Amino acid sequence: MDKKRAFIILGPPGAGKGTHAARLITDLDLSNISTGDILRDAVKSGTELGRKAQEYMERGELVPDEIVIPIVEEKIVSDRASGFFFDGFPRTLNQADALDEMFSRRRIAVEKVIYLSTPDRVIVERLCGRRVCKVCGATYHVKNIPPIKAGVCDSCGGELIIRTDDDEKTVLNRLEVYRRQTADIINYYRGKGLLTEINGALPVDEVYPRILDALGPKPSAVSSGPGAQGGMTGDDQ
Ligand code: ADP
Ligand code: AMP
Repeated sequence: MDKKRAFIILGPPGAGKGTHAARLITDLDLSNISTGDILRDAVKSGTELGRKAQEYMERGELVPDEIVIPIVEEKIVSDRASGFFFDGFPRTLNQADALDEMFSRRRIAVEKVIYLSTPDRVIVERLCGRRVCKVCGATYHVKNIPPIKAGVCDSCGGELIIRTDDDEKTVLNRLEVYRRQTADIINYYRGKGLLTEINGALPVDEVYPRILDALGPKPSAVSSGPGAQGGMTGDDQ
């Protein structure tokens, strides 16, 4: 079997990681590992994991590494996709080390890390206007990326809700937590020569092609052959 691919998208909360990950996993045929989504699902289902994670998430704090790292390892082991796209993980240097360790034991390597740099004022505006589908998790913004019908998901017709951690006070705490615990990861991957910084404040249609460019062409071994819908620009082929 070919070596599995792995990509990571980094950036402060609201930078657009989930928005772009949703498109990339389809275009590049990767499995999405969003620790935020996994944890929110667990909270919604009332599992033991959800009960442990909920209080941290509501305060805008990070869920402890001892809880998050095993979840990711479990996903990597059980998922048979040709590669992974990580959104929201790693978020501490300890998580980054754990990921290296998990990968070194398997045929997986981090190929590229995208860093969506985004100023605080943009983040607050984005998170305060974010709406997510209660059913399928699709993400919208009341002004920037509105649904066709207010309050209703374009994809599945589900109700759009405000995330409990998107109130201004929690957003400001999440930004502080990001600066304190996550920002160092940027230098960690920059030091490994894997990082591409992209201006996340630009509109989605300007950010997305830059990410595709940075990730490089989809290898033919993983694509489904000539004419496959790879989502690449002409320059990438
Ligand atoms: P993250 O996953 O990094 O926390 P999201 O992808 O959920 O961020 O995006 C946060 C909010 O900003 C959402 O409401 C989304 O619709 C909106 N958004 C994402 N990217 C852009 C962009 N480039 N321009 C304008 N709004 C954006
Ligand atoms: P996100 O959906 O990525 O914005 O994450 C929402 C919340 O889930 C965060 O504020 C954290 O409480 C928690 N979370 C998500 N990913 C991680 C992670 N890798 N490590 C610790 N906590 C996380």
